[in-house]
Amino acid sequence: MDKIWIEMYEAAKAVLCERQVSEYLSCGEVSAAVQSESGRIYTGVCIDTCSGLGVCAERNAIFHMITNGEYEIKRVLCIMPDGSSGAPCGACRELMVQLMAGKYRDVEIMADFKNGRTVRLGDITPEWWIK
Ligand SMILES: [Zn+2]
Repeated sequence: MDKIWIEMYEAAKAVLCERQVSEYLSCGEVSAAVQSESGRIYTGVCIDTCSGLGVCAERNAIFHMITNGEYEIKRVLCIMPDGSSGAPCGACRELMVQLMAGKYRDVEIMADFKNGRTVRLGDITPEWWIK
């Protein structure tokens, strides 16, 4: 496995910490790391609210990247509460497609960190409405 994945896993693990922030909002049950085209790693945690205002860890990390003036994703990794990794949900895929229309297919996703198995966003997002 390329060592960048280990760096990304460690960065995401460092912010993985479930906490109840208020009576209505919790965060940190899932965390994510996104590597931008420049090579920088951005992290994010999921934010869960009682009224659907929350966001996934992956989108939070992507927003962090956008906030810092970067608009191209190279790699995405997320960590579930049990320490395993998983593929992004449909909303996160949609954001990446809209952010990188025409280029999103090449984004690498860590599908199974334990076994070092990666997939391309284009492989898990076939026949999307944006080409
Ligand atoms: Zn998501």
